[in-house]
Amino acid sequence: MTPHAAAARPAVIRKAITGGIAPNLIDYAATRASFSWESARAQLDGMRGGGLNIAHEAVERHAQGVRRNQTAFRFLSVSGVRREVSYAELSQLTNRFANVLRALGVGRGDRVFLLCTRVPELYIAALGALKNGSVVSPLFSAFGPEPIATRVNLGEGAVLVTTASLYRRKVEKIRAQMPTLKQVLLITEEAVSADIPGTLDLGELMAQASETFETVATAPDDMALLHFTSGTTGRPKGAVHVHNAVVTHHATGRYALDLQPEDVFWCTADPGWVTGMSYGIIAPLLHGVTSVVDEGEFDAAHWYRILAEERVSVWYTAPTAIRMLMKAGAELARAQALPSLRFIASVGEPLNPEAVWWGQDVFGMPIHDNWWQTETGGIMISNFAAMDVKPGSMGLPLPGVEASIVRRDEKSGAVTVIDTPGVQGELALKTGWPSMFRGYLHEEERYRKCFAGGFYLTGDLAMRDADGYFWFVGRADDVIKSAGHLIGPFEVESALMEHPAVAEAGVIGKPDPVAGEVVKAFVSLKAGYVSSEALRMELLGHARKKLGAAVAPKEIAFLASLPRTRSGKIMRRLLKARELGLPEGDLSTLESGA
Ligand code: ATP
Ligand code: MG
Repeated sequence: MTPHAAAARPAVIRKAITGGIAPNLIDYAATRASFSWESARAQLDGMRGGGLNIAHEAVERHAQGVRRNQTAFRFLSVSGVRREVSYAELSQLTNRFANVLRALGVGRGDRVFLLCTRVPELYIAALGALKNGSVVSPLFSAFGPEPIATRVNLGEGAVLVTTASLYRRKVEKIRAQMPTLKQVLLITEEAVSADIPGTLDLGELMAQASETFETVATAPDDMALLHFTSGTTGRPKGAVHVHNAVVTHHATGRYALDLQPEDVFWCTADPGWVTGMSYGIIAPLLHGVTSVVDEGEFDAAHWYRILAEERVSVWYTAPTAIRMLMKAGAELARAQALPSLRFIASVGEPLNPEAVWWGQDVFGMPIHDNWWQTETGGIMISNFAAMDVKPGSMGLPLPGVEASIVRRDEKSGAVTVIDTPGVQGELALKTGWPSMFRGYLHEEERYRKCFAGGFYLTGDLAMRDADGYFWFVGRADDVIKSAGHLIGPFEVESALMEHPAVAEAGVIGKPDPVAGEVVKAFVSLKAGYVSSEALRMELLGHARKKLGAAVAPKEIAFLASLPRTRSGKIMRRLLKARELGLPEGDLSTLESGA
C-alpha cells in the first residue's frame, strides 16, 4: 500500500517561515535531539517535597505571576451571555470549590464526577477538585442514565457535580443504583429550582466558602483524572491518569499546538472526553493563554462567527467537525475574514487529505492532523507548525516520544520493530512518557496486554515513510482482509471523499465466501446531491479508478448520516453489526439519532 496522495494535488504542502510569529518548534531534529522529559518538567513549578499538581501549574503559577489579570477563559453561553474569567479570579473560584469539597469531607483520591454542558462551573469544579487532590472524571452531558451509573460505579464516584435539570432528567431515578455517591452538587440555574432532596446547592456553598486554599502537594504519580475511552470499538474503558501528565500537556501545548502568550485558543472538544480536558482546559492554561469556551452545539455559521469575533488564533478541532464545515460549503467559510487565525489542528479520527487541502483553500493554511488516544493522555504524533505537511499523514512523533511500527507475534507475544518504510504494522510507543495511562480501572489483565517488549501497543495500524512521517491505516479491528490484501478503511474513505458528492464515508469488511471479506462503503452526501443508482455506479467507478479493483468497494450504500460517537468518531463496528444483523454492542457513547 502506498501513502494516500490526493490526485492533482502535490503530495507535500511546503512551509516557509516568512516573518510574523515564529513557531515554538522550528528545527525538529535539533529540538528532538536536545529534548528530555526532565527538562520539560523543569519548566513547571512543582510543589514542595517533589510534589506536582496539574491545577497549581495551570492556575496558580499564573495567578501569582505577571499574567494574573489575563483572561483565562472567555465563556460564551447558549443564552448569549459572555463571561470573562481572569487567572486571578479562576484561582479564587477554584479555591472556593476546593474548600467546598474539603468541608464535605471529600479528600485526596476521592472521585469527583462532572456532568454538565460547557458552563464555567464545569471548569471551576475540575480545577478545584484537582487542587484538593481529588480525582476528576468528566462525563458527557448527553449521556443517558445507564451510561452515567455504569461510569460512576466503575469509578466509585463520591461526588457528582451537575445541574438541577440534568439531575431531574437523568440522575434522580438511578441515584439509588450508585451507592458510592455521597454528594450531589447542583449548579444553580435560573429557571430550575435547585431545592431537590439529597442534593446541595453549589452556588450557595461556593458563596460561603473561603477564596483561599493551599493546593494539595500531590505526588506526580497520584491519580488525577479518570477518562473513559470513546467506545468506538466496544465497551468504554476507564483510563487512569496521574498528575505527571501535566508535563506532556505542557510540552505538547508548546510544540504540537504552538501555543504562545498572546494566543486566543479555541478547542472545540467537549471536556466529556480526553481532548476537551487535556487541551480544552489544562494545556492552554499551562501556557497562560486565553481560551474561548462555547457552550453551544455545532453550527457552521456560528462557528465562523466565533472564529472571527473572538479573534481566535489557534483552533483545535476534529475531522468530523471539519467534514461538517466542508459540507456547509466553502462560501460560508470565506464569508468571514479571519485575520487572527494562524494555526489549525485536528485530532480524533483520520483526517482525509481532502480536508487538509480544504483548509489550505479556504483558510490559507492546512489543517494539522495529530494522533493520540485516551490512553496516551496527550498528543503523540503531530504536524508541527513549521514543518512541511503531507496531507493524509499524522506527522512526526513529539520530541520525547519514540514511535515505531511493530509486529506482534500472536503466539509468543514477541514484538519486532519494522524499519522498512511503507510497511504497515501496529503503531507502538516506547513506554515512559509522562502522560502514559497507569491502568484501565478494574481491568488489570487488559492493561497488561497493552504492553510488550518495552512498548505500549496502540491497537492502531500505521506505516512510516522514508522521511519518518506516520500514516494511519486503520484500527486493527477495522482492517479488512480481502483476497489476500490488507485494506485500511481510511484509504478507501479518503478516495470516496475526493468525489464532489461525498460528505462522509465509512468503510467495513463484509464476510464473503470467496474473498474472505469484501469492502463495503456507507456514504452520506453533500447538500444538493441525491442518492441514485447512477450516482452509486459513478462512485463505484470513481473508487475503482483511484484505488484499483482489489481495494475499491464492491458495494456502496447511501445513509443520511453515519453513526458516530459523541466525540465524533464514525462507529464502523456499528455499521458492520447492522449490515450483518449482529448485536449492536455497547451504545452508551452513540450520538443520539444515529
Ligand atoms: P475505544 O478505545 O473505546 O474503542 P476510541 O479508541 O475511539 O474508543 P479514543 O481514545 O477517544 O477512543 O480515541 C483514540 C483513537 O482514535 C485512536 O486509537 C485512533 O484509532 C483514533 N485517532 C485519533 N486521532 C487520530 C488521527 N489523527 N488519525 C487517525 N486516527 C486517530
Ligand atoms: Mg481506543
